[in-house]
Amino acid sequence: MSDVQINRTEPVIRVTSRTDASTLLRRLKDEAAFRVVAPVAVDVIADLIGLSVSEDRRDGGSIIGWIRLENEKPRVWLNPEENSYPPRRRFTLAHEIGHYCLHVAHPGGSQSFNDDAKTLNRDASYWDKQEFEANNFAAELLMPVSLINECGQRIVTQHNLSSHGAPLPLDSFVSRLATELVVSKQAMRYRLENVGILPAS
Ligand SMILES: [Zn+2]
Repeated sequence: MSDVQINRTEPVIRVTSRTDASTLLRRLKDEAAFRVVAPVAVDVIADLIGLSVSEDRRDGGSIIGWIRLENEKPRVWLNPEENSYPPRRRFTLAHEIGHYCLHVAHPGGSQSFNDDAKTLNRDASYWDKQEFEANNFAAELLMPVSLINECGQRIVTQHNLSSHGAPLPLDSFVSRLATELVVSKQAMRYRLENVGILPAS
């Protein structure tokens, strides 16, 4: 994967107060003509809000990604070795966008977050409020309800057209939805439970 170095002087969307994922998506649509289609263009979002993302190889130890302010400018690093699986990379970047919008960008916010396998795991991060919030933000950004409904309906319709009445197994529905949204199947299943489409396991 090539390094991404963006040197925009001013962000298109300026985040100056605590902003949740649905608010950010609405602002992107209203202020930057961003289209919420599958898969959600998470790199474009990072660019539009002024995050400089790099993926150079360096010894990050157990760090999978970080965000920090350097001279007031937000910088994100994604460990290329830990993020070679596209759904993982997308989730890590969305998590750092979450930290930026929820915890860094507003006056008096945090300066930096280092993320590892624990902070990026929804169960292991449960008792860490900021990490839990960043994980929820990432899920909401990558799997907005509008896209779940739109893609889910399309998958069911396509299945019904070709299946001659055979029901669509739940597992393959989740897999196909995860593939369309480029997220892990586990993240997709949890999100479907969280929004009440699937019963909690
Ligand atoms: Zn984090």
